[in-house]
Amino acid sequence: MKILVINAGSSSLKYQLFDMETESIAAKGLCERIGIDGHLKHTPLVGGKPVFDSDMDFPTHAEAIAAVLDKLTSDEYGVVKSMSEINAVGHRVLHGGQKFTASTLVDDKVKEAIRACFPLGPLHNPANLMGIEACEQAMPGVPQVAVFDTAFHQTMPASSFMYAIPYKYYEEHGVRRYGFHGTSHRYVSAEAIKVMGLQKEGSKIVTCHLGNGSSMAAVKDGKCFDTSMGLTPLEGVPMGTRCGSVDPAVVEFIANTEGISASETLTMLNKKSGVLAVSGVSSDFRDLDKAAAEGNERAKLALDMFNYAVRKYIGAYAAAMGGLDGIVFTAGIGENSIEVREEILKGLEFLGVKLDKEANKCRGKVQKISAPDSKVQVWIIPTNEELVIARDTEDIVLGRPVR
Ligand code: AMP
Repeated sequence: MKILVINAGSSSLKYQLFDMETESIAAKGLCERIGIDGHLKHTPLVGGKPVFDSDMDFPTHAEAIAAVLDKLTSDEYGVVKSMSEINAVGHRVLHGGQKFTASTLVDDKVKEAIRACFPLGPLHNPANLMGIEACEQAMPGVPQVAVFDTAFHQTMPASSFMYAIPYKYYEEHGVRRYGFHGTSHRYVSAEAIKVMGLQKEGSKIVTCHLGNGSSMAAVKDGKCFDTSMGLTPLEGVPMGTRCGSVDPAVVEFIANTEGISASETLTMLNKKSGVLAVSGVSSDFRDLDKAAAEGNERAKLALDMFNYAVRKYIGAYAAAMGGLDGIVFTAGIGENSIEVREEILKGLEFLGVKLDKEANKCRGKVQKISAPDSKVQVWIIPTNEELVIARDTEDIVLGRPVR
C-alpha cells in the first residue's frame, strides 16, 4: 500500500509518499508560498529520478496538491505510474478539540468537527482542512485520514487538563488544556516502553519533545497523564519564539503600557519571545550554543532558562506519576544537543538519574544515554510523526485496530 502523508500549513504544504511494504519514503517535498506566488521542491528517493526545485503558481492549496500529484506520477520525476497507486492520504491536523481521541477516517461530519475547532487552532486548522479538501478534489474516492496533534493527550484526567477559571468557560467554550505534539509523544513513549523492556501497565515515562516548539508529557501506563502545552501551544517551557508559561497578567500589562491590543501582545508572545527574545541572538539552539560559548551572557541565560524549565517539568511529572522509569529526548534539540541534554539532567540525580556522558555524545539516533546503574533509563528516540500518520492511515483504511 502507498500512502501520501500531508502536513498543510497556511502557506506551505509538506508531503511524503510512503511505501508501507517497507515503511520507506518513496518521495518527499515541500510547497511554499501558497497564495503568494509559489515554489515546489520535490525529491524522489527511489528510481534515481532527479529533484524538481522551481517556482510555480499556487493561488490555493488545490493547485499545490495538483502539482504534487503531477510530479509524483510524472515520467521525469515520478515514483508511481499513476494516481491509482496512491491508496490513501493521511493528514496532520492540529486541533481535534475534545471530539477526537484517535485518528479517524474523514467524512463530512469529521470535516465539520475540524471546522468547529477553528477557534482553537485559528492558524492551523483552516489550512489542514484546505489540505483535506484539495486532496478530495484531486483524488476523488481515495480515503483520507485525519491524525490529530491533540488526540494522544485526551486521556489526561480532569485534574491535569482543567484550568482554575469559571467552569462555564470549559462547559460553553471548551477552554482547557489540550496539549500538542501528541503524535510525537505517542510514538516515542511507545518506542521507549519497547526499548526499555517495560510493560505498558505500570510504566512511568517523561517524554521531552524539544524542537522549535517544545512540549513535555507525563506518560503513565502508556497513556498521557499530563502535558505542558495548553489550550494553545503557547503554554509550558520557553521555546524558540514562544514565551511558554507566564503570568497571564503580563498580557494586559504590556498591552496597556505599550498601547497595543491583547491580540498584538499574544502575537509578540508567540513569535517574538522565547529564547530568541531572551538571548537577542536567535531562536536556533545551534546559534545559542555558539554565542554562549563565546561568552554571550544573554544566550547563556536563555539556555539556562530553557534547561531549568525542562528539568522542573521532569521533577513535577515524576511526582505527579509517583515515580519515574524513563526520560526520553526527541525532536531537533532533544535529538541533537549534547549540551542541553547534559544540563537538563544535572540535579536529577536524587531521582535516580545517572547520565553516561560518553553515550550522550550522540546525535539523531536511538541511543540509551543513562549509565548502566542508573535507576531511571534515559534515551534519545528520534521522533517520526509522518510514519505514525502513515501507519494510522493504513490501519484505518484496512479496518484494523490502530497500532
Ligand atoms: P524541530 O522543530 O524538531 O525541527 O527542531 C528544530 C530545532 O532543533 C532548531 O531550531 C534548532 O534549535 C535545534 N537543533 C537542530 N540541530 C541542532 C544541534 N545540532 N544542536 C542544537 N540544536 C539543534
